[in-house]
Amino acid sequence: MRILYATSEAVPFAKTGGLADVAGALPKAIHELDHDIRVIMPKYRGITGKKIKTFEVNMPQGLEEAEIYEDHLPGSSAMVYFVGNQKYFDREGLYQNNGIDYPDNCERFSFFCKAVMEAVPQLDFLPDVIHCNDWQSGLVSAYVKKLHKWNGVAVVYTIHNMDYLGLFPKEQIFATGFDWRMFTPDRLEFFDRLSLAKGGLVFADVINTVSPTYAREIQSPEFGAGLDGLMRKRSGDIFGILNGVDYKIWNPRTDKKIAKRYSAESLEDKSGNKLALQKLCGLPAGKTKPVIGIISRLADQKGFDILAGAMDAIINMGAQIVILGVGEPKYHRWLQQMQKTYPKSLSVNLEFNAMLAELIYAGADMFLMPSRYEPCGLGQLISFKYGTIPVVRKTGGLADTVHDGVDGFVFTDPNPSALVEAAARALAGFKKKKSWHAMQELVMDYDYSWKVSAKKYVDLYKGALLKIGRRVN
Ligand code: ADP
Repeated sequence: MRILYATSEAVPFAKTGGLADVAGALPKAIHELDHDIRVIMPKYRGITGKKIKTFEVNMPQGLEEAEIYEDHLPGSSAMVYFVGNQKYFDREGLYQNNGIDYPDNCERFSFFCKAVMEAVPQLDFLPDVIHCNDWQSGLVSAYVKKLHKWNGVAVVYTIHNMDYLGLFPKEQIFATGFDWRMFTPDRLEFFDRLSLAKGGLVFADVINTVSPTYAREIQSPEFGAGLDGLMRKRSGDIFGILNGVDYKIWNPRTDKKIAKRYSAESLEDKSGNKLALQKLCGLPAGKTKPVIGIISRLADQKGFDILAGAMDAIINMGAQIVILGVGEPKYHRWLQQMQKTYPKSLSVNLEFNAMLAELIYAGADMFLMPSRYEPCGLGQLISFKYGTIPVVRKTGGLADTVHDGVDGFVFTDPNPSALVEAAARALAGFKKKKSWHAMQELVMDYDYSWKVSAKKYVDLYKGALLKIGRRVN
């Protein structure tokens, strides 16, 4: 099968969240199943590659040049194409700068999606399936079905996060190359605004999201972000496939970024990472002091308002907390304030820092994810591999992967007292060394590698092709 995988970010080239982890790893796993899958993404600042093509893309203001560069996903022969255009992509951030979205994001990602369409004949790579991911590549789906009418190409659209609808003022419809005829509720309109995610959701042959529970949840008003009606209408086409983890990167046996490598057989070495983390973060060092790690975008979704009501109680139970994240200014301000209140128990790191992330996964005893909703969540899966026990809210992929008292600690109600109760159980569990070690050994042995999920994606592609009347092996 030939698959073109369109994404706005992929590890190691560009990352703001879990989509990059998926896009850097899933194509490799599908490639290992002997399918010709190629990634295409924007060429942001700092990305290099060999220039292989230049062509023009029609934008409302005139022609814009697209340059195509090529490379491979590291450790794989799966190809990656980068779409370059200095004006659109040679910028400080991917989607925003200093927390403010670029005002021309609609134009930037319309350009990207048009360039993807133009690249297909230019690269002489006619895919059987085009796989789009979230709103940034959603228009590709609409272009395949409505503009270019490539009837032999199946489109799969993956929702990594339902809340990001790619919303813009309606006048920007012209940047997409469509006109008012496409601005209807059953096409690209979302309550009088333009939604690029709808391009993907309405026109894709098959839709999936990144966990079975979230696939159900998005069909309800609570989680459907205003599109639950559309989701219910398409419920027969919606699937849930759990994300995996790239164990070539996330593995305490081989991780070169951590202080001391370890495995389930040498768990005592994990504490070398804990001491290094405490030292680095300016917290009193000690093996018996429980350390709770949090690595997260600082967004409402991630439950920081729930944490705000629980933080004092958790610290007063004797825990140290290390937080790594960037996001909404209100949470930055709150955390800076808390840091002043608890200098010896709390370490706040308001940055994106891959090095520190790995040391937290390795050095913390527990990993906290109090999410209000969570499409899949990678933090808990990575934590498993590092023997770091997750404390999570029962939602989405967290509900599918963490089992209370077995491999983590789970709370249901989205309120501080439920979180404090779960944290108290985790902290009590931590004191019982024998059963804690047994839990660590269990989770470190879990296999959330991409292999299993990659096979499910191949089946999904086959299903999408069947829907357009093609049978491909
Ligand atoms: P989401 O995609 O909603 O942000 P996920 O749990 O699916 O959440 O994925 C988040 C990924 O981003 C994980 O690999 C996590 O370790 C990483 N991450 C999040 N924030 C930071 C940060 N500030 N620094 C380093 N890595 C981070």
